[in-house]
Amino acid sequence: MIPLGEAQARVRSVVAPLPVVSVPIGAALGLVIAEQVTAAEAIPPFANTAMDGFAVRADDLAAANDESPVELPVVATVAAGAVAPRPLAEGEAMRIMTGAPIPDGADAVIMVELTDIAEPGPSGRDGERVRCRAAVPRGNHIRHAGDDLAAGTVVFEPGTTIHPAHIGVLASVGRVEVEVHRRPRVGVFSTGDELVVGANPLEPGQIRDSNRPQLLSLVAEAGAEPVDLGVLRDDHDEIDAALRAAVDSCDALVTSGGVSMGDFDFVKKVLSALGDLTWMQVAIKPAKPLAFGVMFDTPIFGLPGNPVSSAVSFELFARPALRMMMGRSDIERVHEMAIADEALGRSVDGKTHFQRVVATQESDGWHVRSAGGQGSHQLAALAAANGLAVLPDGHGAAAGDRVRVMLLS
Ligand code: AMP
Ligand code: MG
Repeated sequence: MIPLGEAQARVRSVVAPLPVVSVPIGAALGLVIAEQVTAAEAIPPFANTAMDGFAVRADDLAAANDESPVELPVVATVAAGAVAPRPLAEGEAMRIMTGAPIPDGADAVIMVELTDIAEPGPSGRDGERVRCRAAVPRGNHIRHAGDDLAAGTVVFEPGTTIHPAHIGVLASVGRVEVEVHRRPRVGVFSTGDELVVGANPLEPGQIRDSNRPQLLSLVAEAGAEPVDLGVLRDDHDEIDAALRAAVDSCDALVTSGGVSMGDFDFVKKVLSALGDLTWMQVAIKPAKPLAFGVMFDTPIFGLPGNPVSSAVSFELFARPALRMMMGRSDIERVHEMAIADEALGRSVDGKTHFQRVVATQESDGWHVRSAGGQGSHQLAALAAANGLAVLPDGHGAAAGDRVRVMLLS
């Protein structure tokens, strides 16, 4: 058996960020920017009002209060997207809507809530007068040009991960596309003669293929593009042909099953014949066997078949590698120290154990308790868990002990 860190280092030594491409900003969520993005124009592009109300000159309202409001004629209405027909003169007000440009001559906005309409005009708002019940400081509710970003500002440096707000900023600086490291296309196969797809009835000896849907969604959750490549029989030639075809169209491949010591574990055999394969017995439980290889620059993760093992192996090997291919620096899950609220027992076997736990954040920090059965076939406990407690070789944790937990969500 080789230590986990050594196996991870072997994988990480052969993956690198994918080439840079230009993608529409709407398709860039989770990708990593590979250029310097600057704001060509000021944002906002012009001074505008933050409130619905009236554009005024602050001096005109200096004496206004509840008892003696100041009354001004309303000489125009400025909607968002429009501009005032003429400058505001002394002793005038213009009705103005949030986002509309501040008229020349105005230096403040009084919000509509501090005003009353004194005299509605006969036709619509003609001849309207507004009664202002408060004084306002100069600049009141005015958002200045360049308040958010001055023209020429560097907005994003290469290496920035794109979250929804980044997409908003890219749109606000007028970007339609952005240069990023390409999102990896990751093909996922299941292997096994016993596997049934979908809701078809189970014949004796058959089970349902749960790994493929689970791994496809783990790929998507990692930020990569999942490609469903179906189920392969335990047949040397079928697996050989499928892997050869898939490396052409995918940036990485994930398979499950067929990498252990069984007579029909062909994935391992095919991979060793095809490429530069390392078959590892990693000192972890679950997920001891891992076949990792590179074929024509395409990393291939031959994960074990047991459903929990394939998921844990994906977490420890494939997910960090896929994120490296995306150029992300946050390749690891978040780890926290937590108090074990109950014993998390294990046996001494030379391996690091990953136990499915429910982790909760309380006033004194993180706490964990077991999420259920810890067999590598017991997938329900993985669904109940939101973390994996990392238990070094030994007897596990007693209630009250501190343990490290890898948070899965
Ligand atoms: P293997 O690694 O192929 O020896 O498979 C180990 C165990 O995982 C066996 O009990 C398989 O039936 C089970 N298994 C393999 N592939 C899948 C799959 N896609 N979905 C659910 N269980 C699987
Ligand atoms: Mg199998």
